[in-house]
Amino acid sequence: MSTSAGAGHTPAGEAAPSLPQLHEAGITGADAILAMVSEDDASLDLLEVGQARLLGNYRQAPIVLERGRGCEVWDTRGRRYLDLCAGVAVSSLGHAHPRLTAAIAAQAATLVHASNYFYNVENVRLAGELCARLGYDRAFFCNSGAEANEALLKMTRRHFWAKGQKDRYRIVAFHHAFHGRTLGAVSMTGTPKYKEGFGPPLQGFTHVDYGDLEAVRATMGPDVAAIIVEPVQGEGGVVPPPPGFLPGLRLLADEHGALLLVDEVQTGMGRTGRWLGQEHEGVKGDAIALAKGLAGGVPIGAILLGEHLAGALPPGTHGSTFGGNALACAAARTVMKVIEEDGLLAAVTARGEHLGHGLAALAEKHPRVCTGERGRGLLRGLVLAPGYEPRELLNAVRERGVLLTAAGTNVLRFTPPLVVTDAEIDEGLARVDEALAGVAR
Ligand code: PLP
Repeated sequence: MSTSAGAGHTPAGEAAPSLPQLHEAGITGADAILAMVSEDDASLDLLEVGQARLLGNYRQAPIVLERGRGCEVWDTRGRRYLDLCAGVAVSSLGHAHPRLTAAIAAQAATLVHASNYFYNVENVRLAGELCARLGYDRAFFCNSGAEANEALLKMTRRHFWAKGQKDRYRIVAFHHAFHGRTLGAVSMTGTPKYKEGFGPPLQGFTHVDYGDLEAVRATMGPDVAAIIVEPVQGEGGVVPPPPGFLPGLRLLADEHGALLLVDEVQTGMGRTGRWLGQEHEGVKGDAIALAKGLAGGVPIGAILLGEHLAGALPPGTHGSTFGGNALACAAARTVMKVIEEDGLLAAVTARGEHLGHGLAALAEKHPRVCTGERGRGLLRGLVLAPGYEPRELLNAVRERGVLLTAAGTNVLRFTPPLVVTDAEIDEGLARVDEALAGVAR
Protein backbone atom coordinates (compact mmCIF):
# COMPACT_ATOMS: atom_id res chain seq x y z
CA MET A 1 0.00 0.00 0.00
CA SER A 2 1.75 3.14 -1.14
CA THR A 3 1.08 6.59 0.20
CA SER A 4 3.73 8.13 -2.03
CA ALA A 5 3.25 11.26 -4.14
CA GLY A 6 0.80 10.83 -7.01
CA ALA A 7 1.68 9.28 -10.35
CA GLY A 8 2.09 11.10 -13.63
CA HIS A 9 4.91 13.39 -12.53
CA THR A 10 8.20 14.07 -14.24
CA PRO A 11 10.51 11.04 -13.95
CA ALA A 12 13.58 11.43 -11.70
CA GLY A 13 16.58 12.95 -13.41
CA GLU A 14 14.58 14.70 -16.12
CA ALA A 15 14.17 18.47 -16.00
CA ALA A 16 10.57 19.42 -15.25
CA PRO A 17 8.86 21.19 -18.19
CA SER A 18 8.10 24.87 -17.73
CA LEU A 19 4.55 26.19 -17.48
CA PRO A 20 4.64 27.77 -20.97
CA GLN A 21 5.86 24.43 -22.41
CA LEU A 22 3.00 22.62 -20.68
CA HIS A 23 0.46 25.18 -21.84
CA GLU A 24 1.74 24.78 -25.39
CA ALA A 25 1.22 21.03 -25.02
CA GLY A 26 -2.39 21.74 -24.02
CA ILE A 27 -1.82 20.92 -20.32
CA THR A 28 -3.33 23.67 -18.16
CA GLY A 29 -4.55 24.40 -14.64
CA ALA A 30 -4.00 21.85 -11.90
CA ASP A 31 -2.78 19.24 -14.41
CA ALA A 32 0.06 21.56 -15.46
CA ILE A 33 1.07 22.18 -11.86
CA LEU A 34 1.07 18.43 -11.14
CA ALA A 35 3.20 17.78 -14.21
CA MET A 36 5.75 20.31 -12.98
CA VAL A 37 6.32 18.47 -9.71
CA SER A 38 9.46 16.38 -9.94
CA GLU A 39 9.00 12.73 -9.15
CA ASP A 40 12.27 12.70 -7.19
CA ASP A 41 10.30 12.09 -4.02
CA ALA A 42 7.90 9.50 -5.43
CA SER A 43 9.39 6.80 -3.25
CA LEU A 44 8.69 8.72 -0.07
CA ASP A 45 6.07 7.25 2.20
CA LEU A 46 4.37 10.55 2.99
CA LEU A 47 2.44 9.12 5.90
CA GLU A 48 5.65 7.91 7.51
CA VAL A 49 7.37 11.26 6.94
CA GLY A 50 4.37 13.12 8.30
CA GLN A 51 4.29 10.97 11.41
CA ALA A 52 8.03 11.41 11.95
CA ARG A 53 8.48 15.05 11.01
CA LEU A 54 5.27 16.90 11.86
CA LEU A 55 5.01 17.93 15.49
CA GLY A 56 2.38 15.41 16.49
CA ASN A 57 0.12 17.96 18.18
CA TYR A 58 -2.88 16.81 16.12
CA ARG A 59 -4.60 13.45 16.25
CA GLN A 60 -4.34 12.79 12.51
CA ALA A 61 -6.11 10.11 10.50
CA PRO A 62 -3.72 7.85 8.56
CA ILE A 63 -4.46 9.28 5.13
CA VAL A 64 -2.57 11.87 3.08
CA LEU A 65 -4.87 14.15 1.10
CA GLU A 66 -3.69 15.31 -2.29
CA ARG A 67 -6.44 17.12 -4.16
CA GLY A 68 -10.08 18.07 -4.08
CA ARG A 69 -12.95 19.22 -6.26
CA GLY A 70 -16.30 20.44 -4.97
CA CYS A 71 -17.22 18.29 -1.96
CA GLU A 72 -14.81 15.49 -2.84
CA VAL A 73 -11.16 14.97 -1.90
CA TRP A 74 -8.70 12.25 -2.91
CA ASP A 75 -5.78 10.82 -0.97
CA THR A 76 -2.40 9.78 -2.34
CA ARG A 77 -3.67 6.23 -2.87
CA GLY A 78 -6.33 7.61 -5.19
CA ARG A 79 -9.13 6.92 -2.72
CA ARG A 80 -12.05 9.33 -2.95
CA TYR A 81 -13.77 10.79 0.14
CA LEU A 82 -16.93 12.84 0.45
CA ASP A 83 -15.81 15.86 2.46
CA LEU A 84 -18.55 16.79 4.91
CA CYS A 85 -16.19 18.69 7.23
CA ALA A 86 -14.74 21.17 4.71
CA GLY A 87 -11.55 21.71 6.69
CA VAL A 88 -13.69 22.34 9.81
CA ALA A 89 -16.13 24.88 8.35
CA VAL A 90 -13.49 26.54 6.19
CA SER A 91 -13.75 25.47 2.54
CA SER A 92 -17.14 27.11 2.11
CA LEU A 93 -17.11 26.99 -1.70
CA GLY A 94 -15.78 23.43 -1.69
CA HIS A 95 -12.42 22.53 -3.21
CA ALA A 96 -10.95 24.07 -6.36
CA HIS A 97 -14.02 26.24 -6.96
CA PRO A 98 -13.38 27.71 -10.43
CA ARG A 99 -14.10 31.32 -9.43
CA LEU A 100 -12.03 31.16 -6.24
CA THR A 101 -9.18 29.35 -8.02
CA ALA A 102 -9.16 31.98 -10.77
CA ALA A 103 -9.30 34.87 -8.28
CA ILE A 104 -6.40 33.46 -6.24
CA ALA A 105 -4.34 32.84 -9.38
CA ALA A 106 -5.05 36.32 -10.76
CA GLN A 107 -4.22 38.00 -7.45
CA ALA A 108 -1.03 35.92 -7.08
CA ALA A 109 0.04 37.27 -10.44
CA THR A 110 -0.81 40.84 -9.40
CA LEU A 111 0.16 41.47 -5.75
CA VAL A 112 0.39 38.97 -2.89
CA HIS A 113 1.64 41.08 -0.01
CA ALA A 114 2.77 44.63 0.52
CA SER A 115 2.78 45.26 4.33
CA ASN A 116 0.47 47.33 6.45
CA TYR A 117 2.62 50.41 6.03
CA PHE A 118 0.50 50.92 2.92
CA TYR A 119 -3.12 50.35 1.96
CA ASN A 120 -3.72 47.79 -0.76
CA VAL A 121 -6.63 47.66 -3.17
CA GLU A 122 -7.96 44.34 -1.90
CA ASN A 123 -7.92 45.00 1.84
CA VAL A 124 -9.50 48.41 1.42
CA ARG A 125 -12.25 46.97 -0.78
CA LEU A 126 -12.80 43.99 1.53
CA ALA A 127 -13.06 46.25 4.59
CA GLY A 128 -15.65 48.36 2.79
CA GLU A 129 -17.64 45.35 1.59
CA LEU A 130 -17.62 43.56 4.96
CA CYS A 131 -18.66 46.71 6.83
CA ALA A 132 -21.43 47.47 4.35
CA ARG A 133 -22.73 43.90 4.23
CA LEU A 134 -22.47 43.08 7.94
CA GLY A 135 -23.31 46.47 9.46
CA TYR A 136 -20.02 47.54 11.06
CA ASP A 137 -17.77 50.57 10.66
CA ARG A 138 -14.17 49.33 10.87
CA ALA A 139 -12.20 46.18 10.10
CA PHE A 140 -8.87 44.81 11.29
CA PHE A 141 -7.37 41.85 9.43
CA CYS A 142 -5.21 39.06 10.80
CA ASN A 143 -4.70 35.39 9.91
CA SER A 144 -6.80 33.12 12.10
CA GLY A 145 -9.67 32.88 14.53
CA ALA A 146 -7.42 32.89 17.59
CA GLU A 147 -5.73 36.06 16.37
CA ALA A 148 -9.08 37.69 15.74
CA ASN A 149 -10.22 36.91 19.30
CA GLU A 150 -6.87 38.06 20.67
CA ALA A 151 -7.46 41.35 18.86
CA LEU A 152 -10.98 41.60 20.37
CA LEU A 153 -9.52 41.04 23.82
CA LYS A 154 -6.77 43.64 23.44
CA MET A 155 -9.16 46.12 21.86
CA THR A 156 -11.65 45.71 24.71
CA ARG A 157 -9.15 46.16 27.50
CA ARG A 158 -7.47 49.11 25.84
CA HIS A 159 -10.78 50.77 25.06
CA PHE A 160 -11.65 51.01 28.77
CA TRP A 161 -8.07 51.83 29.75
CA ALA A 162 -8.11 54.77 27.35
CA LYS A 163 -11.41 55.94 28.88
CA GLY A 164 -9.75 56.00 32.30
CA GLN A 165 -11.52 52.82 33.50
CA LYS A 166 -8.35 50.89 34.23
CA ASP A 167 -10.04 48.42 36.56
CA ARG A 168 -12.60 47.40 33.99
CA TYR A 169 -10.88 44.48 32.34
CA ARG A 170 -12.78 41.33 33.34
CA ILE A 171 -14.23 39.22 30.52
CA VAL A 172 -17.25 36.97 31.03
CA ALA A 173 -17.08 33.83 28.87
CA PHE A 174 -18.73 30.39 28.87
CA HIS A 175 -17.96 26.85 29.85
CA HIS A 176 -17.21 24.73 26.76
CA ALA A 177 -16.63 27.88 24.71
CA PHE A 178 -13.79 27.75 22.21
CA HIS A 179 -11.97 30.87 21.07
CA GLY A 180 -8.57 29.60 19.90
CA ARG A 181 -5.17 28.47 21.12
CA THR A 182 -3.09 31.56 21.84
CA LEU A 183 -2.64 32.24 25.55
CA GLY A 184 -5.15 35.09 25.43
CA ALA A 185 -7.70 33.10 23.44
CA VAL A 186 -7.38 30.02 25.67
CA SER A 187 -8.00 32.23 28.67
CA MET A 188 -11.44 32.95 27.20
CA THR A 189 -11.88 29.33 26.17
CA GLY A 190 -14.01 27.49 28.69
CA THR A 191 -12.48 24.03 28.60
CA PRO A 192 -9.80 23.49 31.29
CA LYS A 193 -7.82 20.87 29.30
CA TYR A 194 -6.81 23.53 26.74
CA LYS A 195 -5.07 25.52 29.50
CA GLU A 196 -3.42 22.70 31.41
CA GLY A 197 0.36 22.88 31.67
CA PHE A 198 0.78 26.31 30.13
CA GLY A 199 1.65 28.16 33.32
CA PRO A 200 -0.37 30.82 35.11
CA PRO A 201 -3.34 31.81 32.97
CA LEU A 202 -4.07 35.41 32.10
CA GLN A 203 -6.08 37.07 34.88
CA GLY A 204 -9.56 38.49 34.61
CA PHE A 205 -11.84 35.83 33.13
CA THR A 206 -15.04 34.39 34.56
CA HIS A 207 -16.74 31.37 32.99
CA VAL A 208 -20.39 30.51 33.50
CA ASP A 209 -22.75 28.02 31.86
CA TYR A 210 -23.76 28.73 28.25
CA GLY A 211 -27.47 29.55 28.26
CA ASP A 212 -27.61 30.55 31.93
CA LEU A 213 -28.57 34.24 31.86
CA GLU A 214 -28.99 34.37 35.63
CA ALA A 215 -25.40 33.22 36.12
CA VAL A 216 -24.24 35.99 33.80
CA ARG A 217 -26.36 38.53 35.64
CA ALA A 218 -24.91 37.38 38.96
CA THR A 219 -21.33 37.88 37.83
CA MET A 220 -21.79 41.27 36.16
CA GLY A 221 -20.18 44.27 37.88
CA PRO A 222 -18.30 47.50 37.23
CA ASP A 223 -15.10 45.55 36.47
CA VAL A 224 -16.67 43.63 33.55
CA ALA A 225 -15.35 44.93 30.24
CA ALA A 226 -17.10 42.46 27.96
CA ILE A 227 -19.10 39.30 27.50
CA ILE A 228 -17.81 37.07 24.71
CA VAL A 229 -20.13 34.49 23.18
CA GLU A 230 -20.46 32.11 20.21
CA PRO A 231 -23.91 32.30 18.53
CA VAL A 232 -23.78 28.48 18.40
CA GLN A 233 -21.06 26.77 20.43
CA GLY A 234 -19.10 24.92 17.76
CA GLU A 235 -16.15 23.04 19.25
CA GLY A 236 -18.09 22.69 22.50
CA GLY A 237 -20.53 20.30 20.80
CA VAL A 238 -22.65 22.24 18.26
CA VAL A 239 -24.88 23.79 20.93
CA PRO A 240 -27.39 26.45 19.82
CA PRO A 241 -28.34 29.00 22.50
CA PRO A 242 -31.69 28.78 24.27
CA PRO A 243 -34.24 31.33 22.98
CA GLY A 244 -33.65 34.78 24.42
CA PHE A 245 -30.11 34.06 25.60
CA LEU A 246 -28.22 36.26 23.14
CA PRO A 247 -30.68 39.18 23.42
CA GLY A 248 -30.42 38.78 27.21
CA LEU A 249 -26.64 39.10 27.03
CA ARG A 250 -27.00 42.22 24.89
CA LEU A 251 -29.24 43.78 27.54
CA LEU A 252 -26.96 42.79 30.42
CA ALA A 253 -23.90 44.20 28.64
CA ASP A 254 -25.74 47.47 28.02
CA GLU A 255 -27.04 47.71 31.59
CA HIS A 256 -23.51 47.34 32.95
CA GLY A 257 -21.64 49.50 30.43
CA ALA A 258 -19.81 46.44 29.06
CA LEU A 259 -19.26 45.32 25.46
CA LEU A 260 -20.84 42.31 23.80
CA LEU A 261 -18.23 40.49 21.69
CA VAL A 262 -19.53 37.83 19.32
CA ASP A 263 -17.19 35.08 18.13
CA GLU A 264 -18.47 34.35 14.62
CA VAL A 265 -15.35 32.42 13.61
CA GLN A 266 -17.28 29.18 13.05
CA THR A 267 -20.82 30.53 12.59
CA GLY A 268 -20.03 33.50 10.36
CA MET A 269 -20.04 34.05 6.60
CA GLY A 270 -23.11 32.01 5.76
CA ARG A 271 -22.47 28.83 7.74
CA THR A 272 -25.84 29.02 9.55
CA GLY A 273 -27.86 30.33 6.59
CA ARG A 274 -27.40 34.01 7.46
CA TRP A 275 -24.27 36.07 7.02
CA LEU A 276 -23.78 35.98 10.80
CA GLY A 277 -25.04 33.62 13.48
CA GLN A 278 -26.08 36.53 15.69
CA GLU A 279 -28.67 37.58 13.08
CA HIS A 280 -30.85 34.58 14.02
CA GLU A 281 -31.36 36.21 17.41
CA GLY A 282 -31.71 39.79 16.16
CA VAL A 283 -28.62 40.75 18.14
CA LYS A 284 -25.63 42.86 17.16
CA GLY A 285 -22.37 42.58 19.06
CA ASP A 286 -20.27 45.70 19.52
CA ALA A 287 -17.54 43.79 17.71
CA ILE A 288 -17.25 40.38 16.07
CA ALA A 289 -14.48 37.94 15.17
CA LEU A 290 -14.40 36.20 11.78
CA ALA A 291 -12.04 33.62 10.24
CA LYS A 292 -12.55 30.03 8.98
CA GLY A 293 -14.83 30.31 5.90
CA LEU A 294 -14.10 33.99 5.26
CA ALA A 295 -11.63 33.36 2.42
CA GLY A 296 -12.69 29.80 1.58
CA GLY A 297 -9.46 28.23 2.84
CA VAL A 298 -6.85 30.96 2.39
CA PRO A 299 -5.76 31.91 5.92
CA ILE A 300 -7.46 35.05 7.16
CA GLY A 301 -9.04 36.42 10.32
CA ALA A 302 -10.84 39.68 10.93
CA ILE A 303 -12.55 41.74 13.56
CA LEU A 304 -15.34 44.14 12.68
CA LEU A 305 -16.35 46.85 15.11
CA GLY A 306 -18.52 49.89 15.58
CA GLU A 307 -17.13 53.42 15.33
CA HIS A 308 -17.38 53.82 19.14
CA LEU A 309 -14.44 51.37 19.43
CA ALA A 310 -12.40 52.70 16.52
CA GLY A 311 -9.93 54.62 18.69
CA ALA A 312 -9.05 51.68 20.96
CA LEU A 313 -6.01 50.50 19.01
CA PRO A 314 -4.13 53.55 17.70
CA PRO A 315 -0.91 53.16 15.64
CA GLY A 316 1.68 51.01 17.37
CA THR A 317 -0.68 49.17 19.73
CA HIS A 318 -1.51 46.11 17.65
CA GLY A 319 -0.73 44.61 14.25
CA SER A 320 0.04 41.59 12.12
CA THR A 321 2.60 41.34 9.32
CA PHE A 322 0.47 39.16 7.05
CA GLY A 323 -2.89 40.57 8.14
CA GLY A 324 -4.84 42.09 5.27
CA ASN A 325 -2.52 40.76 2.59
CA ALA A 326 -3.92 41.22 -0.89
CA LEU A 327 -4.10 37.49 -1.70
CA ALA A 328 -6.27 36.53 1.28
CA CYS A 329 -8.45 39.62 0.88
CA ALA A 330 -9.03 38.96 -2.84
CA ALA A 331 -10.04 35.40 -1.95
CA ALA A 332 -12.45 36.65 0.73
CA ARG A 333 -14.02 39.15 -1.68
CA THR A 334 -14.62 36.35 -4.17
CA VAL A 335 -16.15 34.08 -1.52
CA MET A 336 -18.57 36.87 -0.56
CA LYS A 337 -19.47 37.50 -4.20
CA VAL A 338 -20.16 33.82 -4.87
CA ILE A 339 -22.26 33.48 -1.69
CA GLU A 340 -24.33 36.44 -2.84
CA GLU A 341 -24.57 35.74 -6.57
CA ASP A 342 -25.23 32.01 -6.20
CA GLY A 343 -27.86 32.51 -3.47
CA LEU A 344 -25.90 30.36 -1.03
CA LEU A 345 -27.55 31.68 2.13
CA ALA A 346 -30.93 30.31 1.03
CA ALA A 347 -29.21 27.13 -0.16
CA VAL A 348 -27.56 26.64 3.25
CA THR A 349 -30.94 26.98 4.97
CA ALA A 350 -32.51 24.40 2.64
CA ARG A 351 -29.56 21.96 2.72
CA GLY A 352 -29.30 22.44 6.48
CA GLU A 353 -32.92 21.40 6.96
CA HIS A 354 -32.39 18.40 4.74
CA LEU A 355 -29.31 17.39 6.72
CA GLY A 356 -31.07 18.01 10.03
CA HIS A 357 -34.04 15.82 9.05
CA GLY A 358 -31.69 13.10 7.84
CA LEU A 359 -29.73 13.15 11.10
CA ALA A 360 -32.92 13.11 13.18
CA ALA A 361 -34.04 10.05 11.20
CA LEU A 362 -30.70 8.34 11.89
CA ALA A 363 -31.04 9.10 15.59
CA GLU A 364 -34.48 7.52 15.56
CA LYS A 365 -33.22 4.48 13.68
CA HIS A 366 -30.16 3.93 15.93
CA PRO A 367 -31.38 4.95 19.41
CA ARG A 368 -28.70 2.88 21.13
CA VAL A 369 -25.88 4.82 19.41
CA CYS A 370 -27.22 8.35 19.08
CA THR A 371 -29.73 10.41 20.98
CA GLY A 372 -30.57 13.27 18.61
CA GLU A 373 -29.33 16.04 16.36
CA ARG A 374 -28.89 19.79 16.78
CA GLY A 375 -27.43 22.81 15.05
CA ARG A 376 -28.26 25.54 12.60
CA GLY A 377 -27.86 25.71 8.82
CA LEU A 378 -24.86 23.63 7.78
CA LEU A 379 -23.38 23.49 11.28
CA ARG A 380 -24.95 20.29 12.61
CA GLY A 381 -24.18 17.66 15.20
CA LEU A 382 -25.32 14.10 15.77
CA VAL A 383 -25.28 13.51 19.53
CA LEU A 384 -23.91 10.12 20.56
CA ALA A 385 -25.30 8.01 23.38
CA PRO A 386 -23.22 7.39 26.52
CA GLY A 387 -20.58 4.74 25.86
CA TYR A 388 -19.93 5.81 22.25
CA GLU A 389 -16.88 7.87 21.32
CA PRO A 390 -16.92 10.25 18.35
CA ARG A 391 -13.49 8.89 17.33
CA GLU A 392 -14.84 5.39 16.85
CA LEU A 393 -17.56 6.77 14.55
CA LEU A 394 -15.18 9.10 12.70
CA ASN A 395 -12.99 6.13 11.83
CA ALA A 396 -15.98 4.03 10.81
CA VAL A 397 -17.36 6.72 8.47
CA ARG A 398 -13.91 7.47 7.04
CA GLU A 399 -13.45 3.80 6.21
CA ARG A 400 -16.71 4.18 4.28
CA GLY A 401 -15.35 7.21 2.40
CA VAL A 402 -16.77 10.17 4.34
CA LEU A 403 -14.80 12.83 6.25
CA LEU A 404 -16.29 14.35 9.40
CA THR A 405 -14.99 15.85 12.64
CA ALA A 406 -15.93 15.55 16.30
CA ALA A 407 -17.16 18.33 18.59
CA GLY A 408 -17.31 18.28 22.37
CA THR A 409 -17.04 14.85 23.92
CA ASN A 410 -19.98 13.15 22.22
CA VAL A 411 -20.89 14.85 18.97
CA LEU A 412 -20.24 13.91 15.35
CA ARG A 413 -20.04 17.27 13.56
CA PHE A 414 -21.17 18.04 10.02
CA THR A 415 -19.85 21.24 8.41
CA PRO A 416 -19.97 20.52 4.67
CA PRO A 417 -19.09 23.10 2.03
CA LEU A 418 -21.94 25.60 1.59
CA VAL A 419 -22.25 24.32 -2.01
CA VAL A 420 -23.08 20.75 -0.94
CA THR A 421 -26.06 19.17 -2.75
CA ASP A 422 -28.93 17.14 -1.28
CA ALA A 423 -27.61 14.12 -3.20
CA GLU A 424 -24.21 14.48 -1.52
CA ILE A 425 -25.85 14.85 1.87
CA ASP A 426 -27.87 11.68 1.19
CA GLU A 427 -24.72 9.81 0.20
CA GLY A 428 -23.06 10.93 3.44
CA LEU A 429 -26.09 9.99 5.54
CA ALA A 430 -26.18 6.52 3.96
CA ARG A 431 -22.53 5.93 4.93
CA VAL A 432 -23.13 7.25 8.45
CA ASP A 433 -26.16 4.94 8.69
CA GLU A 434 -23.92 1.94 7.86
CA ALA A 435 -21.28 3.11 10.33
CA LEU A 436 -23.85 3.51 13.12
CA ALA A 437 -25.14 -0.01 12.45
CA GLY A 438 -21.55 -1.25 12.45
CA VAL A 439 -20.61 0.13 15.86
CA ALA A 440 -23.92 -0.61 17.65
CA ARG A 441 -23.38 -2.75 20.73
N1 PLP B 1 -13.36 30.69 17.64
C1 PLP B 1 -14.20 29.70 17.30
C2 PLP B 1 -15.66 29.84 17.59
C3 PLP B 1 -13.70 28.55 16.68
O1 PLP B 1 -14.56 27.55 16.35
C4 PLP B 1 -12.32 28.45 16.42
C5 PLP B 1 -11.75 27.24 15.80
O2 PLP B 1 -12.33 26.20 15.78
C6 PLP B 1 -11.49 29.52 16.80
C7 PLP B 1 -12.04 30.62 17.39
C8 PLP B 1 -10.02 29.44 16.55
O3 PLP B 1 -9.75 29.65 15.20
P1 PLP B 1 -8.31 29.31 14.60
O4 PLP B 1 -8.11 27.84 14.70
O5 PLP B 1 -8.37 29.82 13.19
O6 PLP B 1 -7.31 30.06 15.42
